[in-house]
Amino acid sequence: YQRIVLAARPQGEVEPGHFRLEAVPVPVLREGELLIRNRYLSLDPYMRGRMNDARSYAAPQALDETMIGGTVGEVLASRHPSYAAGEHVVAMGGWAELTVSDGTGLRKVDPAAVPLSAHLGAVGMPGMTAWYGLNRILALQPGQTVCVSAASGAVGGIVGQLAKQHGVRAVGIAGGAEKCAYVVDELGFDACVDYRAGNLRDALKAAAPDGIDGIFENVGGEVFDAALARTNPFARVALCGMIAGYNGEDIPMRNVRLLLANRIMLRGFIVTEHLDCWPEGLAELGRLVASGRIKYRESVSQGLASAPEAFIGLLKGRNFGKQLVALA
Ligand code: NDP
Repeated sequence: YQRIVLAARPQGEVEPGHFRLEAVPVPVLREGELLIRNRYLSLDPYMRGRMNDARSYAAPQALDETMIGGTVGEVLASRHPSYAAGEHVVAMGGWAELTVSDGTGLRKVDPAAVPLSAHLGAVGMPGMTAWYGLNRILALQPGQTVCVSAASGAVGGIVGQLAKQHGVRAVGIAGGAEKCAYVVDELGFDACVDYRAGNLRDALKAAAPDGIDGIFENVGGEVFDAALARTNPFARVALCGMIAGYNGEDIPMRNVRLLLANRIMLRGFIVTEHLDCWPEGLAELGRLVASGRIKYRESVSQGLASAPEAFIGLLKGRNFGKQLVALA
Protein backbone atom coordinates (compact mmCIF):
# COMPACT_ATOMS: atom_id res chain seq x y z
CA TYR A 1 0.00 0.00 0.00
CA GLN A 2 1.03 3.61 -0.34
CA ARG A 3 1.98 6.10 2.34
CA ILE A 4 3.56 9.56 2.49
CA VAL A 5 6.43 10.27 4.85
CA LEU A 6 8.08 13.52 5.92
CA ALA A 7 11.26 13.61 3.83
CA ALA A 8 12.69 16.96 4.98
CA ARG A 9 11.78 19.79 7.35
CA PRO A 10 10.72 23.04 5.67
CA GLN A 11 12.38 26.37 6.45
CA GLY A 12 9.49 28.71 5.68
CA GLU A 13 7.05 27.60 2.98
CA VAL A 14 6.18 23.95 2.48
CA GLU A 15 7.10 22.42 -0.89
CA PRO A 16 6.24 19.05 -2.47
CA GLY A 17 9.85 17.91 -1.97
CA HIS A 18 9.35 17.90 1.80
CA PHE A 19 7.22 14.77 1.34
CA ARG A 20 7.93 11.34 -0.19
CA LEU A 21 5.39 8.81 -1.50
CA GLU A 22 6.38 5.21 -0.74
CA ALA A 23 5.00 1.72 -1.32
CA VAL A 24 5.22 -0.50 1.76
CA PRO A 25 4.12 -4.12 2.35
CA VAL A 26 0.75 -4.84 3.99
CA PRO A 27 1.56 -5.82 7.58
CA VAL A 28 0.45 -9.11 9.15
CA LEU A 29 -1.98 -8.51 12.03
CA ARG A 30 -0.98 -9.59 15.53
CA GLU A 31 -3.40 -10.50 18.31
CA GLY A 32 -5.18 -7.32 19.53
CA GLU A 33 -4.71 -5.39 16.27
CA LEU A 34 -7.01 -4.34 13.44
CA LEU A 35 -6.42 -3.25 9.83
CA ILE A 36 -8.24 -0.14 8.58
CA ARG A 37 -8.72 0.89 4.96
CA ASN A 38 -8.69 4.71 5.13
CA ARG A 39 -11.38 6.32 2.97
CA TYR A 40 -10.63 9.99 3.74
CA LEU A 41 -7.57 11.75 5.10
CA SER A 42 -8.04 15.08 6.87
CA LEU A 43 -5.54 17.85 6.11
CA ASP A 44 -5.24 20.37 8.93
CA PRO A 45 -3.16 23.48 9.62
CA TYR A 46 -1.60 21.96 12.79
CA MET A 47 0.41 19.60 10.56
CA ARG A 48 2.61 22.55 9.56
CA GLY A 49 3.73 22.96 13.17
CA ARG A 50 4.54 19.27 13.51
CA MET A 51 6.86 19.48 10.49
CA ASN A 52 9.22 21.71 12.52
CA ASP A 53 11.72 20.28 14.95
CA ALA A 54 10.55 22.66 17.64
CA ARG A 55 9.23 22.36 21.18
CA SER A 56 5.46 22.75 21.23
CA TYR A 57 2.36 21.24 22.82
CA ALA A 58 3.00 18.07 20.77
CA ALA A 59 6.14 16.21 19.71
CA PRO A 60 7.46 16.88 16.17
CA GLN A 61 6.62 14.58 13.29
CA ALA A 62 9.54 12.14 12.86
CA LEU A 63 11.45 12.20 9.56
CA ASP A 64 10.91 9.20 7.25
CA GLU A 65 7.77 8.19 9.18
CA THR A 66 4.15 8.31 7.95
CA MET A 67 2.86 11.90 8.18
CA ILE A 68 0.46 12.33 11.09
CA GLY A 69 -3.21 12.88 10.25
CA GLY A 70 -6.81 12.11 11.11
CA THR A 71 -8.59 9.52 8.95
CA VAL A 72 -11.94 7.83 8.62
CA GLY A 73 -12.17 4.35 7.17
CA GLU A 74 -13.47 0.84 7.27
CA VAL A 75 -12.17 -2.11 9.29
CA LEU A 76 -10.85 -4.65 6.77
CA ALA A 77 -9.75 -7.32 9.26
CA SER A 78 -9.65 -7.51 13.03
CA ARG A 79 -7.95 -9.52 15.74
CA HIS A 80 -9.19 -6.99 18.31
CA PRO A 81 -12.10 -8.01 20.56
CA SER A 82 -13.96 -4.65 20.22
CA TYR A 83 -13.80 -4.23 16.43
CA ALA A 84 -15.21 -6.26 13.56
CA ALA A 85 -14.63 -6.14 9.81
CA GLY A 86 -17.04 -3.73 8.11
CA GLU A 87 -17.23 -1.26 11.00
CA HIS A 88 -16.26 2.39 10.41
CA VAL A 89 -13.75 4.20 12.59
CA VAL A 90 -12.10 7.58 12.94
CA ALA A 91 -8.39 7.15 13.65
CA MET A 92 -5.08 8.96 13.53
CA GLY A 93 -4.28 6.78 10.55
CA GLY A 94 -1.85 9.23 8.94
CA TRP A 95 -1.17 9.91 5.25
CA ALA A 96 -1.60 6.27 4.26
CA GLU A 97 -4.07 4.01 2.48
CA LEU A 98 -3.99 1.38 5.24
CA THR A 99 -3.46 1.63 8.99
CA VAL A 100 -2.76 -1.00 11.62
CA SER A 101 -4.13 -0.03 15.04
CA ASP A 102 -4.21 -1.54 18.52
CA GLY A 103 -7.48 0.31 19.12
CA THR A 104 -5.96 3.26 21.01
CA GLY A 105 -7.78 6.52 20.27
CA LEU A 106 -10.23 5.00 17.78
CA ARG A 107 -13.80 6.32 17.56
CA LYS A 108 -16.50 4.13 16.00
CA VAL A 109 -18.88 6.04 13.72
CA ASP A 110 -22.21 5.25 12.08
CA PRO A 111 -22.03 5.94 8.32
CA ALA A 112 -25.82 6.10 8.14
CA ALA A 113 -26.13 9.10 10.50
CA VAL A 114 -24.03 11.68 8.62
CA PRO A 115 -21.70 11.29 5.60
CA LEU A 116 -18.44 9.52 6.48
CA SER A 117 -16.29 12.56 5.65
CA ALA A 118 -18.24 14.77 8.12
CA HIS A 119 -16.56 12.88 10.97
CA LEU A 120 -13.34 14.65 9.99
CA GLY A 121 -15.03 18.04 9.78
CA ALA A 122 -18.26 19.37 11.24
CA VAL A 123 -18.82 16.27 13.40
CA GLY A 124 -15.14 15.77 14.14
CA MET A 125 -12.11 17.61 15.43
CA PRO A 126 -12.78 20.94 13.63
CA GLY A 127 -16.43 20.97 14.75
CA MET A 128 -15.38 20.25 18.33
CA THR A 129 -12.85 23.08 18.13
CA ALA A 130 -15.64 25.49 17.21
CA TRP A 131 -17.93 24.07 19.90
CA TYR A 132 -15.33 24.24 22.67
CA GLY A 133 -14.03 27.72 21.92
CA LEU A 134 -17.49 29.18 21.54
CA ASN A 135 -19.24 27.45 24.46
CA ARG A 136 -16.47 27.01 27.00
CA ILE A 137 -14.32 30.09 26.40
CA LEU A 138 -16.40 32.84 24.79
CA ALA A 139 -19.74 31.88 26.43
CA LEU A 140 -21.55 34.82 24.82
CA GLN A 141 -25.08 36.02 25.61
CA PRO A 142 -27.81 36.42 22.97
CA GLY A 143 -27.53 39.84 21.33
CA GLN A 144 -23.74 39.99 21.72
CA THR A 145 -21.38 39.90 18.70
CA VAL A 146 -18.75 37.32 17.84
CA CYS A 147 -16.05 37.92 15.21
CA VAL A 148 -14.66 34.82 13.50
CA SER A 149 -11.61 34.75 11.21
CA ALA A 150 -11.04 32.11 8.48
CA ALA A 151 -14.85 32.17 8.55
CA SER A 152 -15.46 29.96 5.50
CA GLY A 153 -13.16 27.24 6.83
CA ALA A 154 -13.73 23.98 8.65
CA VAL A 155 -13.68 25.54 12.13
CA GLY A 156 -14.83 29.09 11.37
CA GLY A 157 -17.94 28.05 9.45
CA ILE A 158 -19.20 26.06 12.42
CA VAL A 159 -18.42 28.82 14.94
CA GLY A 160 -20.71 31.30 13.21
CA GLN A 161 -23.56 28.83 12.72
CA LEU A 162 -23.47 27.69 16.36
CA ALA A 163 -23.34 31.33 17.47
CA LYS A 164 -26.42 32.20 15.41
CA GLN A 165 -28.35 29.36 17.02
CA HIS A 166 -27.69 30.96 20.42
CA GLY A 167 -28.91 34.35 19.20
CA VAL A 168 -25.39 35.76 18.95
CA ARG A 169 -24.59 38.09 16.04
CA ALA A 170 -21.90 36.50 13.83
CA VAL A 171 -19.41 38.55 11.82
CA GLY A 172 -16.91 36.66 9.67
CA ILE A 173 -13.58 37.60 8.12
CA ALA A 174 -12.48 35.64 5.03
CA GLY A 175 -10.28 35.94 1.94
CA GLY A 176 -12.13 36.99 -1.23
CA ALA A 177 -15.63 37.93 -2.32
CA GLU A 178 -16.69 34.37 -3.13
CA LYS A 179 -15.87 33.05 0.35
CA CYS A 180 -17.56 36.05 1.97
CA ALA A 181 -20.74 35.58 -0.09
CA TYR A 182 -20.85 31.92 0.96
CA VAL A 183 -20.39 32.80 4.64
CA VAL A 184 -23.39 35.16 4.59
CA ASP A 185 -25.70 33.55 2.02
CA GLU A 186 -25.15 29.86 2.79
CA LEU A 187 -23.92 29.76 6.39
CA GLY A 188 -26.17 32.59 7.59
CA PHE A 189 -23.58 34.87 9.24
CA ASP A 190 -24.87 38.44 9.66
CA ALA A 191 -21.89 39.89 7.77
CA CYS A 192 -18.51 38.90 6.36
CA VAL A 193 -15.53 41.14 5.62
CA ASP A 194 -12.98 40.39 2.89
CA TYR A 195 -9.56 41.05 4.45
CA ARG A 196 -7.91 41.06 1.03
CA ALA A 197 -10.05 43.96 -0.21
CA GLY A 198 -8.15 46.52 1.92
CA ASN A 199 -9.60 48.85 4.53
CA LEU A 200 -10.32 45.99 6.92
CA ARG A 201 -10.76 48.28 9.92
CA ASP A 202 -13.52 50.41 8.39
CA ALA A 203 -15.25 47.37 6.89
CA LEU A 204 -15.27 45.70 10.31
CA LYS A 205 -16.66 48.84 11.90
CA ALA A 206 -19.59 48.76 9.48
CA ALA A 207 -20.10 45.01 9.96
CA ALA A 208 -20.00 45.17 13.77
CA PRO A 209 -21.62 48.54 14.60
CA ASP A 210 -22.11 47.62 18.29
CA GLY A 211 -18.51 46.44 18.69
CA ILE A 212 -17.20 42.91 19.27
CA ASP A 213 -17.79 40.95 22.49
CA GLY A 214 -16.00 37.74 21.50
CA ILE A 215 -13.20 37.01 19.04
CA PHE A 216 -12.77 33.46 17.76
CA GLU A 217 -9.27 33.85 16.35
CA ASN A 218 -7.93 31.53 13.65
CA VAL A 219 -5.49 33.74 11.73
CA GLY A 220 -3.51 36.21 13.87
CA GLY A 221 -1.55 39.28 12.73
CA GLU A 222 -3.41 42.05 10.92
CA VAL A 223 -6.71 40.19 10.95
CA PHE A 224 -6.64 39.68 14.73
CA ASP A 225 -5.47 43.24 15.19
CA ALA A 226 -8.42 44.66 13.26
CA ALA A 227 -10.87 42.66 15.40
CA LEU A 228 -9.14 43.75 18.63
CA ALA A 229 -9.57 47.36 17.55
CA ARG A 230 -13.36 46.86 17.61
CA THR A 231 -13.63 45.07 20.97
CA ASN A 232 -16.00 46.21 23.69
CA PRO A 233 -14.87 46.36 27.33
CA PHE A 234 -14.58 42.89 28.90
CA ALA A 235 -14.54 41.15 25.53
CA ARG A 236 -13.13 37.61 25.41
CA VAL A 237 -10.78 35.99 22.92
CA ALA A 238 -10.71 32.26 22.15
CA LEU A 239 -7.24 31.98 20.61
CA CYS A 240 -7.60 28.95 18.39
CA GLY A 241 -5.03 29.44 15.64
CA MET A 242 -2.59 31.91 14.08
CA ILE A 243 -2.27 30.44 10.61
CA ALA A 244 -0.82 33.67 9.17
CA GLY A 245 2.40 32.83 11.05
CA TYR A 246 2.67 29.07 10.57
CA ASN A 247 5.44 29.33 7.98
CA GLY A 248 7.47 31.41 10.42
CA GLU A 249 6.26 34.81 9.17
CA ASP A 250 6.26 37.75 11.58
CA ILE A 251 2.69 38.52 12.60
CA PRO A 252 3.04 41.91 14.28
CA MET A 253 0.14 43.51 16.14
CA ARG A 254 -0.36 47.17 17.06
CA ASN A 255 -3.44 46.97 19.28
CA VAL A 256 -2.04 44.78 22.04
CA ARG A 257 -2.63 47.61 24.53
CA LEU A 258 -6.37 47.07 24.07
CA LEU A 259 -6.00 43.78 25.95
CA LEU A 260 -5.40 46.00 28.95
CA ALA A 261 -7.57 49.00 28.12
CA ASN A 262 -10.61 46.80 27.42
CA ARG A 263 -9.83 44.33 30.27
CA ILE A 264 -9.90 41.44 27.79
CA MET A 265 -9.77 37.77 28.82
CA LEU A 266 -7.74 35.80 26.24
CA ARG A 267 -7.34 32.04 26.34
CA GLY A 268 -5.47 29.79 23.97
CA PHE A 269 -6.70 26.20 23.80
CA ILE A 270 -5.95 22.84 22.18
CA VAL A 271 -9.14 20.89 21.54
CA THR A 272 -7.57 17.46 21.99
CA GLU A 273 -6.80 18.39 25.61
CA HIS A 274 -10.54 18.58 26.34
CA LEU A 275 -11.65 15.09 25.34
CA ASP A 276 -14.14 15.03 28.24
CA CYS A 277 -16.30 17.49 26.24
CA TRP A 278 -16.24 15.50 23.00
CA PRO A 279 -19.16 13.12 23.59
CA GLU A 280 -21.53 16.00 24.41
CA GLY A 281 -20.23 18.25 21.63
CA LEU A 282 -20.12 15.57 18.91
CA ALA A 283 -23.64 14.41 19.78
CA GLU A 284 -24.94 17.97 19.41
CA LEU A 285 -23.01 18.60 16.18
CA GLY A 286 -24.17 15.25 14.79
CA ARG A 287 -27.83 16.15 15.41
CA LEU A 288 -27.40 19.60 13.87
CA VAL A 289 -25.70 18.24 10.74
CA ALA A 290 -28.18 15.36 10.33
CA SER A 291 -31.12 17.79 10.57
CA GLY A 292 -29.53 20.25 8.13
CA ARG A 293 -29.25 23.03 10.71
CA ILE A 294 -25.49 23.12 10.29
CA LYS A 295 -24.04 23.24 6.79
CA TYR A 296 -20.49 22.67 5.69
CA ARG A 297 -18.46 22.63 2.54
CA GLU A 298 -15.53 20.40 1.55
CA SER A 299 -12.55 20.65 -0.80
CA VAL A 300 -11.73 17.06 -1.72
CA SER A 301 -8.55 16.18 -3.59
CA GLN A 302 -8.35 12.73 -5.19
CA GLY A 303 -5.81 10.07 -4.27
CA LEU A 304 -3.04 9.96 -1.67
CA ALA A 305 -0.46 11.40 -4.09
CA SER A 306 -2.48 14.64 -4.23
CA ALA A 307 -2.09 15.28 -0.47
CA PRO A 308 1.10 17.41 -0.53
CA GLU A 309 -0.28 19.92 -3.07
CA ALA A 310 -3.63 20.03 -1.26
CA PHE A 311 -1.85 20.70 2.04
CA ILE A 312 0.26 23.47 0.52
CA GLY A 313 -2.98 24.96 -0.85
CA LEU A 314 -4.59 24.87 2.61
CA LEU A 315 -1.78 27.02 4.01
CA LYS A 316 -2.39 29.53 1.19
CA GLY A 317 -6.18 29.69 1.49
CA ARG A 318 -6.79 27.76 -1.75
CA ASN A 319 -9.16 25.39 0.07
CA PHE A 320 -12.82 26.36 0.32
CA GLY A 321 -14.18 24.60 3.40
CA LYS A 322 -12.82 21.44 5.03
CA GLN A 323 -9.78 20.08 3.12
CA LEU A 324 -9.89 16.32 2.62
CA VAL A 325 -8.13 13.73 0.50
CA ALA A 326 -10.31 10.91 -0.87
CA LEU A 327 -8.34 7.65 -0.92
CA ALA A 328 -8.87 4.97 -3.53
P1 NDP B 1 -9.53 26.22 7.30
O1 NDP B 1 -10.49 25.25 6.71
O2 NDP B 1 -10.06 27.48 7.87
O3 NDP B 1 -8.41 26.53 6.25
C1 NDP B 1 -7.40 27.45 6.53
C2 NDP B 1 -7.83 28.86 6.10
O4 NDP B 1 -7.00 29.80 6.72
C3 NDP B 1 -7.65 29.12 4.63
O5 NDP B 1 -8.72 28.66 3.85
C4 NDP B 1 -7.54 30.62 4.59
O6 NDP B 1 -8.82 31.19 4.51
C5 NDP B 1 -6.94 30.94 5.94
N1 NDP B 1 -5.54 31.33 5.77
C6 NDP B 1 -4.52 30.59 5.35
N2 NDP B 1 -3.38 31.31 5.34
C7 NDP B 1 -3.71 32.52 5.75
C8 NDP B 1 -2.98 33.71 5.93
N3 NDP B 1 -1.67 33.77 5.69
N4 NDP B 1 -3.65 34.79 6.36
C9 NDP B 1 -4.97 34.71 6.60
N5 NDP B 1 -5.70 33.61 6.44
C10 NDP B 1 -5.08 32.53 6.01
O7 NDP B 1 -8.70 25.46 8.44
P2 NDP B 1 -9.27 24.93 9.84
O8 NDP B 1 -10.67 25.37 10.01
O9 NDP B 1 -8.94 23.51 9.94
O10 NDP B 1 -8.36 25.69 10.89
C11 NDP B 1 -8.60 27.07 11.18
C12 NDP B 1 -7.68 27.51 12.32
O11 NDP B 1 -8.00 26.77 13.49
C13 NDP B 1 -6.19 27.27 12.07
O12 NDP B 1 -5.48 28.35 12.59
C14 NDP B 1 -5.91 26.02 12.86
O13 NDP B 1 -4.57 25.92 13.25
C15 NDP B 1 -6.83 26.23 14.05
N6 NDP B 1 -7.19 25.01 14.78
C16 NDP B 1 -6.92 24.97 16.12
C17 NDP B 1 -7.27 23.91 16.90
C18 NDP B 1 -7.02 23.96 18.36
O14 NDP B 1 -7.23 22.96 19.06
N7 NDP B 1 -6.57 25.08 18.88
C19 NDP B 1 -7.92 22.72 16.30
C20 NDP B 1 -8.22 22.88 14.88
C21 NDP B 1 -7.85 23.98 14.17
P3 NDP B 1 -9.03 32.60 3.76
O15 NDP B 1 -8.94 32.33 2.30
O16 NDP B 1 -10.36 33.03 4.22
O17 NDP B 1 -7.91 33.46 4.23
